[in-house]
Amino acid sequence: MAIASINPATGETLKIFEPLNDSEIAAKLDLAGRVFPNYRKTSFSERSQWLKQAATILQQEKADFAKTMTLEMGKPYKAAIAEVEKCALVCNYYAEYAPSFLADVDVKTDASHSFVRYQPLGAILAVMPWNFPFWQVFRFAAPALMAGNVGLLKHASNVPQCALAIEDILHRAGFPQGAFQTLLIGAAQVADLMADDRVKAATLTGSEPAGASLAAAAGKQLKKTVLELGGSDPFIVLPSADIETAVVAATTARMLNNGQSCIAAKRFIIAEAIADKFEKLLLDKFLALKVGDPMQPDIDLGPLATSDILQDLHQQVQSAVNSGGKVLTGGKPLSDGPGNFYPPTIITDIPLDKPIAQEEFFGPVALLFRVPDIDAAIELANATPFGLGASAWTTNNQECDRLTTEIEAGAVFINSMVKSDPRLPFGGIKRSGYGRELSIQGIHEFVNVKTVWVK
Ligand code: NAP
Repeated sequence: MAIASINPATGETLKIFEPLNDSEIAAKLDLAGRVFPNYRKTSFSERSQWLKQAATILQQEKADFAKTMTLEMGKPYKAAIAEVEKCALVCNYYAEYAPSFLADVDVKTDASHSFVRYQPLGAILAVMPWNFPFWQVFRFAAPALMAGNVGLLKHASNVPQCALAIEDILHRAGFPQGAFQTLLIGAAQVADLMADDRVKAATLTGSEPAGASLAAAAGKQLKKTVLELGGSDPFIVLPSADIETAVVAATTARMLNNGQSCIAAKRFIIAEAIADKFEKLLLDKFLALKVGDPMQPDIDLGPLATSDILQDLHQQVQSAVNSGGKVLTGGKPLSDGPGNFYPPTIITDIPLDKPIAQEEFFGPVALLFRVPDIDAAIELANATPFGLGASAWTTNNQECDRLTTEIEAGAVFINSMVKSDPRLPFGGIKRSGYGRELSIQGIHEFVNVKTVWVK
């Protein structure tokens, strides 16, 4: 795959980059290896200061960074601004809390002094996706750098300008040269990186095949990985819920980032008693969404990030229809002009035994399922290979308790859409991956948890 910025709203090629050759990659690995022994000796207060400065740069230049994102991958500009602000938030969060998350923890034993000490591992490789091109990287970089690790970024091949901008921000913020480096390389070069002694561990956010491939390469070298993969998250609405509020959240949760979010609500599981009302209100909301140039402030839905994603999504929609699904609105690409535009789409009546009912739709397509009761809702919610984040709507305490306990997912949000928050761990189970990002759990993924015993 070429490393190129192509505007998904127009098809225009903005910039093409040559992937790094072997000797350029070797030079960057060499630098990472040389910088780490010194970088790990920097103090928390130095690292905090640099990370806070990164937050300041993000805030001051958010208009430029947001434009780069929107032009490279098509998210609405207003969402891109919010993404840059969230990156500043996660930088400030770890700048403040990392020292306490990584402080020695005394444990009483029969030693004169025993404790746990958290120490950095070295160079950590981050293989990242294009859908939140800043946020995905900063939520890795902020804890990794605070822990004293150095970072190597292999970003998705369609967002090279974002990748270079992030390296530049961290360098300008004060981090030493080489503490965080962007490698403009293709996916095929990742396995060789995992085999290099200087790369100690890796994190990947992306698809199942990419995760499996990275985990296999890391496994051969006995190196740790964290995987944040796909989801086909349920959005359950039970009769006691505030339906109007649920429909507003359902629309936002499905359309976020032009429908291309791992934690987007993808399967809407609605109690039969309220299903007609929910379906009608959701249809009204979808019909009111404005699709178009993502740089315009009033646009709700921009283009899909690449023409391949558009084709894959449409094939899934056709497969849903061939399996018996009915299209309430949308259902084919918008063809009046250039760009990868797909309209808000609702599909009902997909038989549950069809494989397509379990797949992840990475675009603005909602699948609606009707269930008789909470038992059937939970059974259907769990009937997928994924387990990332579930949203469920009810005002009944017993139902709330059952939903939070019985749903198989890394997160359950009641009466709210699923979202990431620096203060809370983020990650999945089943084929959605393993390990956690954010919060104290996230910063503990890439450290040596060292036991110290002094007699
Ligand atoms: P993708 O193709 O897997 O790409 C993600 C990253 O992995 C890119 O940098 C890509 O590089 C690289 N890659 C692809 N194949 C690889 C391989 N065999 N070995 C090593 N690296 C490889 O993902 P996508 O389809 O663009 O992104 C969408 C998926 O990501 C969805 O399933 C979504 O749910 C998931 N996602 C999950 C989370 C989460 O936090 N759980 C967040 C966002 C997205 P190239 O671009 O060079 O191919």
